[in-house]
Amino acid sequence: MLLSDFKPRSKLVTRTTLVERPRFPVIDAHNHLAEPFGGGWDQRPTSELLDTLDQAGVVAYVDLDGGWGEDLLHRHLDHFKNAAPERFRIFGGVDWERWPEHGDGFGEWAAARFREQARRGAEGLKIWKPFGLHVRDQHGALVAVDDPRLDPLWATAGELGLPVLVHVADPVAFFDPIDETNERWEELGGHPEWSFPSPPFPPFLDIVNGFAAVVARHSATTFIGAHVGCYAENLAWVGAVLDHCPNFHIDFSARIGELGRQPYSSRRFFLKYADRILFGLDAGPDLPNYRLYYRFLETDDEYFNYNDSEAPLQGRWHACGLYLPDDVLRKVYFDNAARMFDIKR
Ligand SMILES: [Zn+2]
Repeated sequence: MLLSDFKPRSKLVTRTTLVERPRFPVIDAHNHLAEPFGGGWDQRPTSELLDTLDQAGVVAYVDLDGGWGEDLLHRHLDHFKNAAPERFRIFGGVDWERWPEHGDGFGEWAAARFREQARRGAEGLKIWKPFGLHVRDQHGALVAVDDPRLDPLWATAGELGLPVLVHVADPVAFFDPIDETNERWEELGGHPEWSFPSPPFPPFLDIVNGFAAVVARHSATTFIGAHVGCYAENLAWVGAVLDHCPNFHIDFSARIGELGRQPYSSRRFFLKYADRILFGLDAGPDLPNYRLYYRFLETDDEYFNYNDSEAPLQGRWHACGLYLPDDVLRKVYFDNAARMFDIKR
């Protein structure tokens, strides 16, 4: 039998708790509404979307798909914000393709563009993961995450009082050779384009340490490190950045597989940094996925699938729930994001 045909079923007799509704109202601070991640809701009636969010107990939803082209941002603002202004926050972005045209002044230009996006209604800035891996300057050189030419952009977000949600790097194993020791061998087999060996790519730690340097340098700007600060595999590293930088927050979207297989460390982490953690699904407005996250946060269920598929999409591991206390749940589900996005209840 090939390993790919091996699909063992756990024989543990343990509890399965269905958490249909979250214990407190939820603000989803990391998600999408356009293709490919968000289900193409910019082409579908918003009333259906609101029904799903109501069912999931999600009272506000951050849509990171505003993009950088005026058209896209305007379409999202018009489509979602006009329909239910209090339910959506739409983020803008940076058009890195324009770097060669603006050269060393690119940071100033991007800052001015973000000001314009904010004037039109964008309520945050999303930095996608090509930054640090693919974005190049006017000389064709890779732009480091802490490149000082971008300081005007980060400072402008601080002046505007709008958060910057950053996803740099990717799972650490994507930077390792694709061999028999790689914990994401099966996933990389299906997506070899997700492999970032160094060289030619920078080492994982250079990227995330560059991000931490930017956060430290711009203490007046609120940063959200996506996917557990971009380093869910190392909660001590993330905790050190949180300790050092009061302006740093994290979301834990798409990382139940990492958190749930280190449940003791994760639980301690959530208790210690309860004021700095935001809820995010990053899988579109998907009811079964929301319920999986609620189960992970609220119950002490053991050894369950970290996604709603039977296949080991990321790796052959399982998650244990964190059974967080109510005061922590309330902060993670609602209070922290409500403070950041000025959402009243
Ligand atoms: Zn995302």
